[in-house]
Amino acid sequence: MTDPKKIVLLGATGSIGDSVLRVIRKHQDSLELLGISGHSNFAKLIEIAKEFKVPHAHLVKEPGNIGSFPETTRFSFGNKALLELASMEESDICVVAIVGAAGLQPTLSAIESGQDIVLANKESLVMGGELVMKTAKERDVRIIPADSEHNAVFQCIQGECNRQLESIILTASGGALRDTPIEKLPEVTLEETLLHPNWSMGPKVTIDSATMANKGLELIEAHWLFGLPPEKLEVVIHPSSITHAIVRFIDGCCLAQLSPPSMTFALQNAILFPNRLEGVEQSLDFSKPIDLSFYPPSPKRFPCLQLARESLQAGGSAPLAFNASNEIAVEAFRANRIGFMEIPSIIKDTLNMHDSSQAHSLEELLNLDSDIRRLAHERVLAHS
Ligand code: NDP
Ligand code: MG
Repeated sequence: MTDPKKIVLLGATGSIGDSVLRVIRKHQDSLELLGISGHSNFAKLIEIAKEFKVPHAHLVKEPGNIGSFPETTRFSFGNKALLELASMEESDICVVAIVGAAGLQPTLSAIESGQDIVLANKESLVMGGELVMKTAKERDVRIIPADSEHNAVFQCIQGECNRQLESIILTASGGALRDTPIEKLPEVTLEETLLHPNWSMGPKVTIDSATMANKGLELIEAHWLFGLPPEKLEVVIHPSSITHAIVRFIDGCCLAQLSPPSMTFALQNAILFPNRLEGVEQSLDFSKPIDLSFYPPSPKRFPCLQLARESLQAGGSAPLAFNASNEIAVEAFRANRIGFMEIPSIIKDTLNMHDSSQAHSLEELLNLDSDIRRLAHERVLAHS
């Protein structure tokens, strides 16, 4: 029997973190949790450390007391210690399940350390795709996609020749508001936006799913992971969220990956790759009817999708600006400062106002990111 793979799980206290823990719980002979991180949910971090006897636990925010960890857990806090956890020598895989732009720096640290990366944090590729992919190539590191659509593509292209790929079709549920009349969208509440029909996810990605900014981020993520230009990246609405992506080859044949709408399938595939073991949850039941319908997204209903595509076509810092302005707009929507349809307006204004440039280093990317956030904040003020 081979030794279990040692895993560092960044963002252990979140929704993806929960699904990864389900996979590890199921496969304790094959997987071992070496380190975990959270941002501020101290109680949950302690709970996970206790259950999985985790040697290293980390919180970004300094907690009031550090008393209740098991004696065998070494606890740290702060940004520097997060990067140390991300780059632990003993680790075989770093799962990056931090939400938002905060994932970029730990992803780069983990890549620098030479371990495999299981990447759920799409924002790091959207912000710094060129730097992330270049560093991974230099360090000979595998980036295995955990986002369900990208993991589906990853599964479909195993053993295939990249040059024979014609296009990638990412499926989208359409989110919580896909059937809400368009004229009602400016008035929808945060609670309505968070009622996702199929997926249980963290709040940011659930809102991004309703605006389809999420699929926009995923187009950019797919560009960096699979090296296809924007015109070869398609998006289709698939309300049942069972087909996660479709790969079209130059001969016209399409391959798809199907599984129920739960992240444990993609995450287990990515973490155990290239092995397969029994899944955490039941597979599809074909003894009952399954709806596999597809239809194109309406640009009027989902303007964020087109904005993301335009930012990918523009290149340079435009995708970073798309991501930063979306994060600021979503925060403002969650704080009830702007309406739902002002999210795309703020992204559009910010994209129009920012001076596109190239950032080649982490420092340049982070500086650009904070400049763009300032610009997006001003747009929020103008709207609220
Ligand atoms: P959640 O909000 O549920 O969890 C986010 C995690 O990141 C938590 O552990 C949180 O800690 C931590 N975190 C938050 N802010 C920071 C920060 N500034 N620095 C370090 N850690 C931080 O998000 P999800 O699990 O839904 O999403 C995680 C990532 O995975 C996102 O990039 C998302 O787009 C992607 N993704 C998610 C899917 C899903 O099904 N949820 C599907 C596909 C991709 P704390 O809990 O302490 O606040
Ligand atoms: Mg996805």
